[in-house]
Amino acid sequence: MEKSNFELSDIIGDIYRRICHASMRAGREPDEVELIAVTKTQNDNVIDNAIIHGLRNFGENYVQEAIKKHTSLNQTCEYTKINWHLIGHLQKNKVKPAIKHFSVIHTIDSLELAYLIDKEAKKIGKVQNGLIQVKLSDEPTKHGINSKELPSLVEKILVLENLQIQGLMGIPEFFADPEKVRPYYSKLRYLQEQLISSGYNQLKELSMGMSNDFEIAIEEGATIVRIGTAIFGKRKPRN
Ligand SMILES: *Cc1c(COP(=O)(O)O)cnc(C)c1O
Repeated sequence: MEKSNFELSDIIGDIYRRICHASMRAGREPDEVELIAVTKTQNDNVIDNAIIHGLRNFGENYVQEAIKKHTSLNQTCEYTKINWHLIGHLQKNKVKPAIKHFSVIHTIDSLELAYLIDKEAKKIGKVQNGLIQVKLSDEPTKHGINSKELPSLVEKILVLENLQIQGLMGIPEFFADPEKVRPYYSKLRYLQEQLISSGYNQLKELSMGMSNDFEIAIEEGATIVRIGTAIFGKRKPRN
């Protein structure tokens, strides 16, 4: 069921309240944390409503799906500046459309992909913002760079002129009990701190935390949380 307007404003208000409380528990300022509304599988109506309720950052997993929405929403919402975030794996053959449409690519996990993004961004005169996705669990299906290879990847990527890396992103294994993800998030924070103390001060962002665990992610240092289900309800399966 789609959320009514009334429900949606209550829900978004409640999410901001929870972000605020988690920030305060960690001795942080609530405005250090940016909310990305994850709209994969959601239709234009849902996104339009979210825009009306003040949301401006949207996360999508699939390049084509996002572009379709982006194009139709542009006709109705020209007055707003909307930032699209790519939070799903980026295939090399989708780099060109991806850099045209996304403000931030959260899932850069190889040098090859980074070179390609830099090259295509240069062609259209864009400096593409991005995050490096770090592999947080041993599940074979998860994408991301191995934490051991992270420093050498960072060294090579941060010299690229048309790709601006702003921090790290991670997806932990799923646990019903959100406390179990805390070690994954504190590990990502630790990796970030190591890099910053090696002089990579620009790696300020930590994209971590989803519906089930965003408060814990914030306590562990998240600056970007990616929330879908807790705002829009359960997703329909993708067909
Ligand atoms: C789907 C997705 C989310 C949002 O998950 P919810 O549990 O619905 O909040 C966040 N991050 C990534 C990478 C996702 O694929």
